[in-house]
Amino acid sequence: MTDMRALYQEVILDHNRNPRNFGKLEGATCLAVGDNPLCGDSYTIYAVVGDDDTIEKVGFDGTGCAISKAAASMMSVRIKGKTIQEAEVMIEQFRHMLTGELDPKSDNELGHLTVFHGVSQLPQRVKCAVLPFHALHAALEGEDEISTEGEQDVWNEDTP
Ligand code: ZN
Repeated sequence: MTDMRALYQEVILDHNRNPRNFGKLEGATCLAVGDNPLCGDSYTIYAVVGDDDTIEKVGFDGTGCAISKAAASMMSVRIKGKTIQEAEVMIEQFRHMLTGELDPKSDNELGHLTVFHGVSQLPQRVKCAVLPFHALHAALEGEDEISTEGEQDVWNEDTP
């Protein structure tokens, strides 16, 4: 557990300090804004989706805590080159991991994103980690704005 926690902190701090794919993404075909008012996290997630439904690039900008920024950064790396369908599977698995419904050691598509498993022990930070995924989902669905609070949280209703 101590090793896992150390790894988790190291990776998250690295991505927080040097976020990958940070900045407005030129040529984005879709975007969505995600807000987490509980923590003050606010990001715009951009994606370039090709004709064959492949996500060619993901970028983000905005501000927020270390966990949300690292999650957006790592997501942008992991999602690149996936199809929309593959991305949706990953988004779903990530959310399930943070709500304790998915064992990170099980067969999944999350790769290094499993370092965020530690966040499931910190209920007040779960929304921070999920926010970028939530926003990417909204962008791919063609919604522009989502919030992790209240009735705008349509994503949960769509989830089977
Ligand atoms: Zn946060």
